[in-house]
Amino acid sequence: MAAPFSWIVPDPHGVYVKPADCWIDPSKAVAKALVTHGHADHARGGHGKTVATPETLAIMALRYRTGEGPDGGATRPVEYGETVRLDGGVDATYIPAGHVLGSAQILLEHAGERVVITGDYKRRADPTCPPFEVTPCDIFITEATFGLPLFTHPPIEEEMAKLLDRLAAYPDRCVLVGAYALGKAQRVIAELRAAGHTQPIYLHGAMERMCRLYEDFGVDLGELRLVSDHTKDDMRGHVVVCPPSALNDRWSRRLPDPITAMASGWMRVRQRARQRNVELPLVISDHADWGELTRTIQEVDPQETWITHGREEALLRWHQLHQRRARALAMVGYEDEDD
Ligand SMILES: [Zn+2]
Ligand SMILES: [Zn+2]
Repeated sequence: MAAPFSWIVPDPHGVYVKPADCWIDPSKAVAKALVTHGHADHARGGHGKTVATPETLAIMALRYRTGEGPDGGATRPVEYGETVRLDGGVDATYIPAGHVLGSAQILLEHAGERVVITGDYKRRADPTCPPFEVTPCDIFITEATFGLPLFTHPPIEEEMAKLLDRLAAYPDRCVLVGAYALGKAQRVIAELRAAGHTQPIYLHGAMERMCRLYEDFGVDLGELRLVSDHTKDDMRGHVVVCPPSALNDRWSRRLPDPITAMASGWMRVRQRARQRNVELPLVISDHADWGELTRTIQEVDPQETWITHGREEALLRWHQLHQRRARALAMVGYEDEDD
């Protein structure tokens, strides 16, 4: 009999599933990839075959600008809760991760052993995707982007209230929110709607197609308008959403005296807000904070935790203090740029 868990092989380029000869979120092109979600550091192009949720496949097709599968490779859509039988007697089940549209944890089962790879995840409610589901397993392979006790994300309602208060206080200006084009932008818009903001929201052109894709999958974002179709005066007293790179760009000169905001978990760190000249930092993250990470590990209660990327030292120490086994995988190429 093979040694326990010898079929699951951590590699700097992703998790390799030996009997199935496939990779989870590989950072290099491979013959067969199981992809957790559409952020670029997890969903690289060029794979022979990509297995992912229909939403993630659509996001990849949009980003790699191909008609069908990413880079024209073969695709296998998997719905949440669906199990696919891979080669070598490995079953893969896709389970909501609560991170962005289409994001999934992948449960692998082989020889009576259960391994969950979370991809990126959070535990807070998000109107744009179904919530993370706790899935018991033997090995829990988790991210740790915000794996330090200082990272506690505030309730999103507080951050939305800050944004709307500022908007109301300056009716002749606009609030320009920098947000990543996949996930954060749509979540901010959906949360503004949930907070009762029914006014049109203006978009930088780079956000349009991803917002339309969310709408195609049934996420209601209310009335969206393109900045390029409107005058400065039209946008006074309104919210404008742009990619973070456009915040201090020439592009923003067409806006009415923008108050610059940025929606990111990193806005907890003052220096990061200063670097981007952000007047209104909004601490909004699509990753688990310290409390969510440690609560999740307790709820999943695995024999062992493997940490893919992020700040692993404090989380390793936490495992020691709680008599839990853990190891850091030191994977390369997973930037936390998406938050
Ligand atoms: Zn991500
Ligand atoms: Zn990531």
